[in-house]
Amino acid sequence: MALVPQLRTRKLTIVAQDPGVRTNGRILTEEVDIPAEELAEGPHGYRVHVIDYDSSSRLLYKPLSYPRPTNGALVDPFTKPSNDVVLKDPQFHAQNVYAVVMRILARFEYALGRRVGWSFQGHQLKVAPHAFADANAFYSKRDEALLFGYFQGHRGTVFSCLSHDVVAHETTHALLDGLRERYIDPSSPDQAAFHEGFADVVALLSVFALRNVISAILDLDTSFSGDNGRGARGAKAAHGKLIALKYLTPAAMRESVLMRLAKEMGEEMSGVRGQPLRQSAKLAPSPDYLKKNEEFLEPHRRGEVLVAIMMNAFLHVWAERLEALGQVRPGYLDRGRVVEEGANAADYLLTMAIRALDYCMPVHMEFRDFVSALLTADHEIRPDDSKYNFRAHLRKSFRDYGVEPSAKGEASEPGLWHPPYGRLCTDRTHFESMQRDRDEVFRFIWENRKTLELYQGVYTRVLSVRPCLRIAPDDGFPLRETVAEYMQIAEFRAADLHKLGIKKPKDMPPETKVTLYGGGTLIFDEFGKLKFCVNNRLDHAKRQTGRLKHLWEYGYFNPGAAVRRQFFYIHRLRALNSRSYEKEEWS
Ligand SMILES: [Zn+2]
Repeated sequence: MALVPQLRTRKLTIVAQDPGVRTNGRILTEEVDIPAEELAEGPHGYRVHVIDYDSSSRLLYKPLSYPRPTNGALVDPFTKPSNDVVLKDPQFHAQNVYAVVMRILARFEYALGRRVGWSFQGHQLKVAPHAFADANAFYSKRDEALLFGYFQGHRGTVFSCLSHDVVAHETTHALLDGLRERYIDPSSPDQAAFHEGFADVVALLSVFALRNVISAILDLDTSFSGDNGRGARGAKAAHGKLIALKYLTPAAMRESVLMRLAKEMGEEMSGVRGQPLRQSAKLAPSPDYLKKNEEFLEPHRRGEVLVAIMMNAFLHVWAERLEALGQVRPGYLDRGRVVEEGANAADYLLTMAIRALDYCMPVHMEFRDFVSALLTADHEIRPDDSKYNFRAHLRKSFRDYGVEPSAKGEASEPGLWHPPYGRLCTDRTHFESMQRDRDEVFRFIWENRKTLELYQGVYTRVLSVRPCLRIAPDDGFPLRETVAEYMQIAEFRAADLHKLGIKKPKDMPPETKVTLYGGGTLIFDEFGKLKFCVNNRLDHAKRQTGRLKHLWEYGYFNPGAAVRRQFFYIHRLRALNSRSYEKEEWS
């Protein structure tokens, strides 16, 4: 009997954005590639278990089961589904959540060059596509689950499990929490905003990486005009196979592509996800939001600025790639190539954003640290940025919104993290075991505690050790790295903080107990040499003073204040679309 080769990927149909985005009345769907596996009923795979239980109606829907592969081929039971199937078949909903979650997981694993775990001990994330009758969707660490609600809209039932960006957003929370477990700790306004902003960045870039979505958005009537309102009303940006260049400047595309998609995403789902794309598309570049505006201390508003920065960079990269295309006729480009370049730009930026996580410190990160992480992670794998200027556009976009990188870098390549200063002792540690053994990494840290700027005499722990194999995008060249994180924890009386150079918040009683965290991420090359130590020192006087002042003013030290943020609570607040909840953030 001939052996049938096992496929590594399979195609499954998903809703490309959400049922609000349609072409000629038909809900836009897309077949996406995801890791192949023989699924149990659910679908129930090696990393995702769809359990379709509705706790509001106490109904357990029939699990979706896939036919056994014939000749190694895995069948998609929902190719080109009708609107009725998309909206009404709970089994399609089960496939949709399964495929979107697997796609995001695969993107993280590809970008980071290793397996990526969830934030909890188990291997399989539970996903409930019709979890409850409510306009909400959230990631629950306690339940090891993503829970998607449904509710009555103006035109029938609205299912949050059918919105690609909502499913991708929640999946990103579960992955980010696994990679950087301390990012939900109370810290700076930036860190509070990062979880939400980053989840939206991943969600939106993964939507823009779908060709059908970009294509549909370009086809939509640009009746508001692509040239700042001066052009002919009712003009179409795209004519058949051609598209006019004048609609393809970053400014025009912000008005057309971003605003149009935001509008198409529909009002009804805004109860679940807020309107991250619409809000961020409105934020024209300015350094004032983050520096001067009280409103942008609230985590969602601040997260929208991160989304605006990344989307702005996306449009500039896309426009630059289009400049390199030949004009089919004067003033017009080939539509298919425009779509292709947009999807590729989104996909590459998505990889960059995820890779940057490995180059971020494990505690107290700020947007400026994320910039240095983005630039350095990309520089390591793709030193030459001259083809599409991804890093140059990102640097400029962050600067336009008032965020300068934490690190100075070189004159030729600003913003990169520095290699560690000082001599490091590696004589007594074995790199072979340092690639997987936390005790070995701890020994390395201990022997080099002065060079690595550890605070002496406090609890120190290695959180993770992760070997990775990343693939360069242009030439497929492999880059081997090992990423290890450590953190330090110590408790002080407020009255003693001055011994570390830290100022206690005014009015804070001297006996108040204050816990300080510090920590770093170590990046080793394939020979065991430490390339970077991205750290936030426990006794970093300026950062700790600022952090304590912020938390004190926001009531974190009040009796009964919650220690950790709860995603369902945050999302509920977002759903209520309240602008006045900033003071309740930690309650
Ligand atoms: Zn969220």
